[in-house]
Amino acid sequence: PLSTADLIEEHKICVCVRKRPLNKKELSIRDLDVITIPSKDVVMVHEPKQKVDLTRYLENQTFRFDYAFDDSTTNEMVYRFTARPLVETIFDRGMATCFAYGQTGSGKTHTMGGDFSGKNQDCSKGIYALAARDVFVMLKKPCYKKFDLQVYSTFFEIYSGKVFDLLNGKTKLRVLEDGKQQVQVVGLQERDVRCTEDVLKLIEVGNSCRTSGQTSANAHSSRSHAVFQIILRRKGKMHGKFSLIDLAGNERGADTSSADRQTRLEGAEINKSLLALKECIRALGRNKPHTPFRASKLTQVLRDSFIGENSRTCMIATISPGMTSCENTLNTLRYANRVK
Ligand code: ADP
Ligand code: MG
Repeated sequence: PLSTADLIEEHKICVCVRKRPLNKKELSIRDLDVITIPSKDVVMVHEPKQKVDLTRYLENQTFRFDYAFDDSTTNEMVYRFTARPLVETIFDRGMATCFAYGQTGSGKTHTMGGDFSGKNQDCSKGIYALAARDVFVMLKKPCYKKFDLQVYSTFFEIYSGKVFDLLNGKTKLRVLEDGKQQVQVVGLQERDVRCTEDVLKLIEVGNSCRTSGQTSANAHSSRSHAVFQIILRRKGKMHGKFSLIDLAGNERGADTSSADRQTRLEGAEINKSLLALKECIRALGRNKPHTPFRASKLTQVLRDSFIGENSRTCMIATISPGMTSCENTLNTLRYANRVK
């Protein structure tokens, strides 16, 4: 039976999985789809036990989450069950976080930022934009109108343990912690936003800043965490904050043995921050007094979202369907399983 503690935990942390369709490249090499989502909260991985005949020696591994979305699910639908409930939290003076976690190419940016494939540069269907849209809808409700809330946005990147402002030409920023453990990103641009269009413009600016000057856009973005925030202020004072995070690819294990020193360091830093993140979310779910937020820059910057009575979080674990991604997919599912 569920105890009260279980209920609180359920309420505070939501973990779901999203499977993307096989892409052109996977189809061209006849990669097998090894993921089945038989019900709204179950994910099955058909893992090859022997590499001889892939179709004949499969073994099922089953995982259960709050929600599991198959490859026909739209961003809007994923949003409705994950980030949408957290919009209320920030109007209710709370702190909310929503993470996209998974291997590079599994759909994190597609889910959070929107569709950037090919000629499409449409960020209006990503969770950043969908959350912003609903913030402006909620603002007009009589029960919140009386608070006279102002909305602001920030967009920054954490790369190799350093913070860069994506709304200010990638300026490197310092992170300071005062005696009361309050963490501040010094000089972070907080832009005044009045409507969804304002937010879309900022997302575009930030995204182009994120990838500019890089030989391979995905190579760079897969090694950094992108943090987009929607902040509500009342007479200048913080009322609530929603942090939406497109995490660095979790396949970095291989990098730690790379010949290139910089790549090795980046890999180690990513592993460290994803480990710290898991511990911080678990501490939040268990109402632990001590959150180990100092273990990485990511968790340090998000410190005020992991503590407090009214903090809620959701994680969207994105997975690739192909047999060729099986190892990474299992790692993603195991991590997501441990978060709760
Ligand atoms: P990541 O950010 O995790 O590295 P991306 O979001 O860039 O991955 O996705 C990789 C590719 O797969 C992109 O071309 C993206 O448009 C496509 N893709 C991802 N998720 C989906 C989905 N649910 N439906 C259709 N295409 C998707
Ligand atoms: Mg990405």
